[in-house]
Amino acid sequence: MDGKVKSMDLSRKEPVEEIISKLTAEQRRLLYLIGLYSEVEGEVGKQWLKDLSLKGILVKGVREKVFDWDYAPASIMYRNTRKVINISQEGQNDLNTLRTYGLIARLRLGTSRHFYFNAYGLTAEGVEVFSAIPQEDREPIEKLISCPKCGKLYEVIPEEDSIYLTCEKCDIQINTEVDDIEAVAYMCVPKWLRMKIETVWKPVTRRE
Ligand SMILES: [Zn+2]
Repeated sequence: MDGKVKSMDLSRKEPVEEIISKLTAEQRRLLYLIGLYSEVEGEVGKQWLKDLSLKGILVKGVREKVFDWDYAPASIMYRNTRKVINISQEGQNDLNTLRTYGLIARLRLGTSRHFYFNAYGLTAEGVEVFSAIPQEDREPIEKLISCPKCGKLYEVIPEEDSIYLTCEKCDIQINTEVDDIEAVAYMCVPKWLRMKIETVWKPVTRRE
């Protein structure tokens, strides 16, 4: 029986240290972040983090230099409507990598209004990796998402204008600034070009 268990372990499990060394700092921090929000009464892996909340934290993390990624405006489903907010595509890519490694799981949820959103949590293996994340990756994440007054994790609330990190008890509300569309030119240029082309084509149509 002992031998059986051993061979099962060998066939599907990589040592946690090996997995950790395979991950980039961004991936380790992202996993740790999702893990902290998955904690219920000290137990990790019990709760899911909504996609929109995660998107907000990631942009805030890039701004605070916790994540070495880029972000740019993109049109996404936002609280039942379409909205242009800053999204880190590199962050999304790392999230997908963690899913490929089997450390993060995605849950697709439907609402009564027939729209869908994703939520992310840790797999059993993800929980193991979570507990072995080195201190140098824990600290910047804890600083990013904990209330400086009471130390509790921020709640992440997508309001109409932007996504906010809040601590109700301490009356703190921080804008993740996903709504601060600095690179707005990227979004507008293609639209403007399309309009321009239409204008140019008009006389041609009239002549026919
Ligand atoms: Zn607080």
